Amino acid sequence: MLPLVALVGRPNVGKSTLFNALTRSRDALVHDEPGVTRDRNYGVCRLDPERPFVLVDTGGIAGSEEGLAGATARQSRAAAEEADLILFIVDGREGASSIDDEILAWLRKVDTPTFLVVNKIDGLDPQTALADFARYGFKDVLATSSAHKTGIDTLLARALAAL
Ligand code: GDP
Ligand code: MG
Repeated sequence: MLPLVALVGRPNVGKSTLFNALTRSRDALVHDEPGVTRDRNYGVCRLDPERPFVLVDTGGIAGSEEGLAGATARQSRAAAEEADLILFIVDGREGASSIDDEILAWLRKVDTPTFLVVNKIDGLDPQTALADFARYGFKDVLATSSAHKTGIDTLLARALAAL
């Protein structure tokens, strides 16, 4: 069975865009408006052909993206709990939000290894973008721009090393 990597994060942080970048698929819908994304849930990342892994967009699983607050979040949680690695995606432009804090509180109760992925760093000073999330206390922090495909190679290498 292939390893499973779960994308977790509040709506509009770029989960679907990252999913597309990693699976190189164009059929996941990416939308500007929060809450309207209906994306494919599962895909296979074959960027390293020797080490494919399954990627699950838990926002997609929830059906309507409501963060992890709603009852529909149960399936997202189940998927994340059974994953081998969780990528917790946050928005480097907007900084830490209360929904991010909520998700973090839940992630702290899960045993699955988790990386913090600060996305949308294009046009930002990466150190400044990361500073807002320093209090989250992650050992593994990655800065990406899914839209510009920046930091994807490093993310891939770190994820593969953890699988
Ligand atoms: P999701 O709700 O977490 O799945 O987020 P989406 O992937 O649907 O992206 C939400 C919005 O953010 C879309 O308008 C994307 O084009 C935009 N976006 C995603 N990644 C990036 C990024 O790295 N940089 C910038 N500037 N915008 C991004
Ligand atoms: Mg999405």
